[in-house]
Amino acid sequence: MNGIDVFSPTSLDEAFSLIKQQGRKAMIIAGGTDVLVKLKNNKITADCLINIKGIKKLDALTYDRESGLRIGALATLSAIECAEIVKEKLPVLAETVKKIGTPGIRKSATVAGNLCNAAPSADMAPLLMVLDAKVKLAWENGEKIVSINQFFKGPGETILQPGQIITEIQVPNLPPSSSVTYLKHSRVKGADLAQVGVAVMLQMAGDTISDIRIALGAVAPTPIRSREAEKILLGKAATEKLIIDSGMAATREASPINDQRSSADYRREIIVILVRKAVNSAMKQIRGES
Ligand SMILES: Cc1cc2nc3c(=O)[nH]c(=O)nc-3n(C[C@H](O)[C@H](O)[C@H](O)COP(=O)(O)OP(=O)(O)OC[C@H]3O[C@@H](n4cnc5c(N)ncnc54)[C@H](O)[C@@H]3O)c2cc1C
Repeated sequence: MNGIDVFSPTSLDEAFSLIKQQGRKAMIIAGGTDVLVKLKNNKITADCLINIKGIKKLDALTYDRESGLRIGALATLSAIECAEIVKEKLPVLAETVKKIGTPGIRKSATVAGNLCNAAPSADMAPLLMVLDAKVKLAWENGEKIVSINQFFKGPGETILQPGQIITEIQVPNLPPSSSVTYLKHSRVKGADLAQVGVAVMLQMAGDTISDIRIALGAVAPTPIRSREAEKILLGKAATEKLIIDSGMAATREASPINDQRSSADYRREIIVILVRKAVNSAMKQIRGES
């Protein structure tokens, strides 16, 4: 790439020492589907790219009965889409990945990159929020695990400090009698960013909603949990009225903007529709009706 130094470490240690050596000028690149487009369009500048794609073992996708699924930072969206373990243990993850970009994009793009890019419309974010996922961060002298709910700070902004790399995303097992749905509304079917994304995790005890998580994408500066919407349904037998009230509460927690993809008013209308659809769809799945 003209004028940009590109380094390709093959271990995390090598990556950390390159980051230290290059300082703040260094930018991490994984699949490159966000970074390269932004560089080409002059939305960002970089003196040096640290291409982490060659770091061994970071592309692992593993499952453990106790702790659930672990998605290595370099696992591509298409690897997730095709992985038998994902289809078996968490099919909603494979279904959500298919809603992102094109098959060509998914061959390079990673979940970690989707999160670090921190677009308000990032499709993986609402889903991982309702799945209560955790993100493992590593740096030269340490590592820590943080909840995805604390990861986003603003459009394009996360809690990641310079020199930190996501190494893995941890997705716990779903509780019994539960189901998860992610619905994406966009202008066209196929490769388009979400106008609104809604994810719902629902757990039922008989007819009562014993646990619920709702997350929204593309309707606030970051993907958000919709706590007020959740409260309306938690501990209740869901009626159509309560589900619509919950969707209305979600619109009040959102702060959508007018942009080239949608008006804010349209986004609010779609939130109610998607919350309703997602809650009903999750309930049907739990009852074995779909
Ligand atoms: C045509 C097209 C269609 C798209 N459609 C969609 C869509 O429908 N939905 C959607 O959500 N997105 C979409 N995207 C955006 C993009 O594909 C995703 O955000 C992708 O998942 C980013 O992953 P990546 O590995 O390519 O990230 P990169 O471009 O390599 O990196 C993105 C950001 O993450 C940082 N980064 C990457 N990996 C790490 C890591 N392990 N640790 C620390 N920082 C890291 C980079 O420094 C950079 O800031 C689309 C993009 C294109 C070009």
